[in-house]
Amino acid sequence: MNFVFHRTYRGPLQAVILDWAGTTMDYGCYAPAVVFVDVYRRKGVPISIAEARVPMGAHKKVHIRKISQLEAVAQRWLAQHGRPPTEDDVEAMFQDFIPLQLACLADYADLVPGTLEALEDFRRRGLKIGSTTGYTGEMMKLLVAEAKRRGYEPDATVCATDVPAGRPEPWMCLQNAMRLGVYPMEAIVKVGDTLPDIEEGLNAGMWTVGLAKTGNELGLNEAEIAKLDSATLTAKLTVANRRMRQTGAHYVVDGIGDVPALLDDINARLARGERP
Ligand SMILES: [Mg+2]
Repeated sequence: MNFVFHRTYRGPLQAVILDWAGTTMDYGCYAPAVVFVDVYRRKGVPISIAEARVPMGAHKKVHIRKISQLEAVAQRWLAQHGRPPTEDDVEAMFQDFIPLQLACLADYADLVPGTLEALEDFRRRGLKIGSTTGYTGEMMKLLVAEAKRRGYEPDATVCATDVPAGRPEPWMCLQNAMRLGVYPMEAIVKVGDTLPDIEEGLNAGMWTVGLAKTGNELGLNEAEIAKLDSATLTAKLTVANRRMRQTGAHYVVDGIGDVPALLDDINARLARGERP
């Protein structure tokens, strides 16, 4: 056969999938970072908050394992314990992590400014709203209730413990698509503040938007950002922007409030037959 038929989706976006910490709530993505530091401290192995942030976005147990594999942390562990960390250590730290995280989650549940306005825009466009997270189901039960009290109620929430594997694998995004009843995947845009967020969306065949300022990349809350001089802030944003672009993000903006302005562009690209 000399010719093949290409089927192309030319319709508009139908859904947006949002990350939680650092995207819609917990400006600076602090809640998990401080608990990872605490969990390692309890094992006699101090880690910096920057080290705690490196694997952000992953399932929290995977995250604990990945911290233990950072070379500097592995060396400190060896010096303290006389042996490298084992899977039993990872499991023990995860068991410590769960109650510590549950105890402080509500303290970091305030919505990122601009979230409610962005949600209104998504709703006006008729988009369904899904969500994914590295938090466990137990943690999400609490966070979903906190979000609802603040006016945010997504149509679907899928966490790392609901699927065979969390980010960067695409299953949480695909489970959202199924629960929302939305297809094809190019009719969905995934928004998040970490590199695994972007990989997750790309692996699911979706458009992806990276948030450089409000989440884990800067790792600072609003008050801390306000104290930076503009050259330092610009330099930090440039690094975050580059890292997200290099991971493959279709767009990188400061925060969720900047996402509505991108949607017409994505719709125009879809109408031209472009795919993510
Ligand atoms: Mg996040």
